Amino acid sequence: MEPPRRTILHVDLDAFFASVEELLDPAIAGKPIIVGGDPQGRGVVSSASYAARAFGVRSAMPMAVALRLCPQAIVRRGHYREYGRYSRQVMAILREYTPLVEQVSIDEAFLDVTGCERLWGPADGLARAIQQRILEGCHLPCSVGVATSKLVAKIASGLRKPQGLVIVPPGEEAAFLAPLPVEELWGVGEVAARRLHALGLHTIGALAAVPKEALVLAFGNQGAVLYDHARGIDNRPVVPENRRRSVSNERTFAQDLTDGEELRKHLLALCDQVAARLRSLGLQGRIVGLKLRYHDFTTVTRRATIDRPTALSPTIFQHARGLLDATWRTGTPVRLLGVSISGLVETPVRQLGLFGDDDGRWMRLSRALDDIRNRYGEQAIRRATFLEPPGEDEGPDDASPEP
Ligand SMILES: [Mg+2]
Repeated sequence: MEPPRRTILHVDLDAFFASVEELLDPAIAGKPIIVGGDPQGRGVVSSASYAARAFGVRSAMPMAVALRLCPQAIVRRGHYREYGRYSRQVMAILREYTPLVEQVSIDEAFLDVTGCERLWGPADGLARAIQQRILEGCHLPCSVGVATSKLVAKIASGLRKPQGLVIVPPGEEAAFLAPLPVEELWGVGEVAARRLHALGLHTIGALAAVPKEALVLAFGNQGAVLYDHARGIDNRPVVPENRRRSVSNERTFAQDLTDGEELRKHLLALCDQVAARLRSLGLQGRIVGLKLRYHDFTTVTRRATIDRPTALSPTIFQHARGLLDATWRTGTPVRLLGVSISGLVETPVRQLGLFGDDDGRWMRLSRALDDIRNRYGEQAIRRATFLEPPGEDEGPDDASPEP
């Protein structure tokens, strides 16, 4: 049976951090603004205003390179607590339109508005209303893509930034995607793109002309996904937070990793991020999942069950590391590493303030660190080494107080 045709919006704030910086300091509005790490160190650009992008500055670019391209840029280290505050306001606005809002990062979300026409009118009017409402309510510009799937809606929202609105009517997905570069597709990273280019496949349209069997031969299971995606077929649902079944994070490396120590460092960072996300959602989980994709696209997933639910990075890391050590064929190049937590339950309120028990102390410490990261950015706290659970006299007692 054909699933019902869906209407999905992807709402993406334009140059979000830089836009918030303009609100915090109107004197710099319209100027080239870069939010990012230390230009002296190995800091990277986390956001650049459109005036800075005009000079070629891009997200994830080393700060030193960005400042060579645009020496007059105004540099901000970031007001992460403010970004969080604005983000929550925007997400609250989106939830006024439908409960089916899936926040995918601090500045973007999918909305499933299938069947909402009677309430809100046709999707293009709804999309414009949302843009207007966010602009008036939060003074933030955003772009919206409208399509029948998450994949196409997301590509559409990125096409005419800033303040863009791109609607892909049902049935026109493949034609819409055809002229775009293959890199636009989810899951096509640098390595896959290089392999596709080597086969003479540069556009999604060219990819869509390749028989499914050939793609499966070249890319394994991922090939079947590519085949569907190249046609705009993507049946993944919009999953709101309250129905979330897992929290995960993964990273595709610019260059395949072969060093165990490097892998474990990235694994720890992923565990930190997943744990922080769990805590921000008020959730804990019992099942730790590891995802490992090798250079040849072979993908392995492994799971381990913890004796009780946790939202603590050291516990998650301990299990994820065990899975990695047991799974990774030492020295085999790894292109993607992922960590997930499932078996989710809500955090019992009582546990948050518990003293004397290691988990309670770790929870307090972790929340204090979340708070510092929210205020000063991800890089504010760097680990010197992998954390071990604290001894009796290394508790978080003099960490900053919880709000
Ligand atoms: Mg954005």
